[in-house]
Amino acid sequence: MKIILLGPPGSGKGTISEQLETEFKFQHISAGELLREEVAHKTTIGKVIKTYIEAGNLVPDEFVVQLVKIAINKKDHYILDGFPRSIEQAKHIEDLHINLVLLLDVPENIVIERLANRRVCQTGVHGYHLKYLPPKKPGICDADGTTLIQRPDDTPQIIKKRFQVYHKETQPLIDYYKKSHLLQTINAADTPDTVYAQVKKVVTEAMTRIEKR
Ligand code: AMP
Repeated sequence: MKIILLGPPGSGKGTISEQLETEFKFQHISAGELLREEVAHKTTIGKVIKTYIEAGNLVPDEFVVQLVKIAINKKDHYILDGFPRSIEQAKHIEDLHINLVLLLDVPENIVIERLANRRVCQTGVHGYHLKYLPPKKPGICDADGTTLIQRPDDTPQIIKKRFQVYHKETQPLIDYYKKSHLLQTINAADTPDTVYAQVKKVVTEAMTRIEKR
């Protein structure tokens, strides 16, 4: 089963991927995380990537497509979180035969509030919301015990830029995947538990359909 998670910044792609990973053993492939790893390791391409992320722009395809393809390798049970983010990127993975595209639909005012309250662990893997999904111990990641931080690209100015990029580059993917009948829309404005319940239902139905084939 191969799933793409589509949605604006702060729509909950990372949280839902973590929940699906735990329950259905999907491999969680996050383009943002792969890129942040390169930045953290200060690799040659990491230094270039950093400038794009910190400006709220998309990292050029020559870097991101390769990183994602290496992460996918020959896997066949995964979630692509934050990839593709443009029609051009989608064309690079047409041969993968994706089974389901989940669009996390949530109004902009709600995601802006979520991003302001978002904290992530030092590894960038685990995300929290100060009000709705707080860690058990304030300021500390439940999963790995590291100190929680605010992402450098979660500042109001960069968030604004990320939304502009989303509208221009990523939103056209909604029609692209509608045409191939892969798209299912989730109302992601609700509480994390309610959103996940909808996601779980859609994923379970899709898995049943695939098994019957
Ligand atoms: P995310 O962790 O998904 O919020 O992504 C954080 C940042 O990483 C984005 O604002 C982009 O700068 C970069 N990024 C993530 N995914 C992609 C992608 N598919 N293509 C280009 N840049 C990306």
